[in-house]
Amino acid sequence: MALLTTPSPAPESNANTNFLRPNSSLFNSESDEELLSVKSKSRSPRSSTSENLQMLSLRDHYEINGDLGKGTYGKVVQAVCKETGTKIALKILPKSSTKLRDFQREFNISYYLSPHANIVDTYNVAFETRASYVFALEYAPLGDLFDSIPPQIGMSEQDTKTVIRQLASALEFMHSKKLVHRDIKPENILVMAPDFSRVKLMDFGMSRRDGAMVRKTNGSIPYTPPEVCEAVRNESIQVTTGADVWALGVLLFCMLTGNFPWENADIGDIYFKEFILWQRRKTTKVPSQWRRFTPRILKFFRKTLEIKPHRRSSVKELAKYANDPWLLQATEIGNVESDSGTEAEQVDHLSIMLRDHGIETRVDKRLRDRRISEWLLTL
Ligand code: ATP
Ligand code: MG
Repeated sequence: MALLTTPSPAPESNANTNFLRPNSSLFNSESDEELLSVKSKSRSPRSSTSENLQMLSLRDHYEINGDLGKGTYGKVVQAVCKETGTKIALKILPKSSTKLRDFQREFNISYYLSPHANIVDTYNVAFETRASYVFALEYAPLGDLFDSIPPQIGMSEQDTKTVIRQLASALEFMHSKKLVHRDIKPENILVMAPDFSRVKLMDFGMSRRDGAMVRKTNGSIPYTPPEVCEAVRNESIQVTTGADVWALGVLLFCMLTGNFPWENADIGDIYFKEFILWQRRKTTKVPSQWRRFTPRILKFFRKTLEIKPHRRSSVKELAKYANDPWLLQATEIGNVESDSGTEAEQVDHLSIMLRDHGIETRVDKRLRDRRISEWLLTL
């Protein structure tokens, strides 16, 4: 099983490129147009939208304070607007690798979904520089969720519940608008409060309309659903809300364990195969890394990680399980149906039991090396 590090999918071409502005009143009211034409004379970035892109120099209008993240498509920097003094984040997409319509689609979806409490606020500011397309987002000082998931340990059940409920709400909203995110992963979830009471979904670069046809040009990551994993390069695949439901299931596993359930949702992956055999009731043996979960949340996993997308539950399903316990107590783990298990599986169980009793079983290599060198210095 892989450690929690996520590769990024490469860009993908889209057969359905006509993403219409979802809420034209946001952009097209007469008064807005008047306002824009008046303001655009001042060449303020705040008067430039994706429909009215102004050519600006970044440094004339923003003080740039460093990178917040670099992705496959571009980078996000922290900036202060010189005109207003507001701290913001700027997503900068190089023209060399980004088509204008892809930039407009990402900006429009992000802006349109902004009113939801669990979706990043996108300001009505988009412009171009000589080399890039740029739009402005609210700045999240705590960064993304990835750093909050301790590898091989996972987050507490309580924090996981707090995060996943908000995420399900954001996805329910998106799906109700017939949009699919298609890139659900911890790196695309911003943490707005240290106790996770507010998290926000972001990065709508892969988002498309539900039902749209896209061509597969990217590789798979652990969150990719099986119907996408099995498609060959350039094959046409249909966008479905089920892809987000699948990724939500994988994310839930990652948050509770600090591991990926598999590297690829492909039958050639032994961890995936083991899960599918149990999921299709070919065996009653719960795969070892799933034995820490209660029967209730296993039922949720069974419905969410359903291999056939049309049989997969909707994101609303989570609400039915939200108040159940999700992780077994250490004493209960041994009772989950299994054969005697391999030695590795038994060690796994033992480690979980010890950890639940506050006994640390994993030795931090750097800590161990430091202790050894400190000990050597005392000799
Ligand atoms: P990828 O292709 O890897 O998914 P991307 O190029 O589409 O990434 P984003 O996901 O939008 O770019 O942003 C990259 C990273 O920048 C995020 O994972 C996050 O860590 C950081 N980031 C993005 N937006 C913000 C923000 N508003 N506040 C703070 N950090 C942010
Ligand atoms: Mg991203």
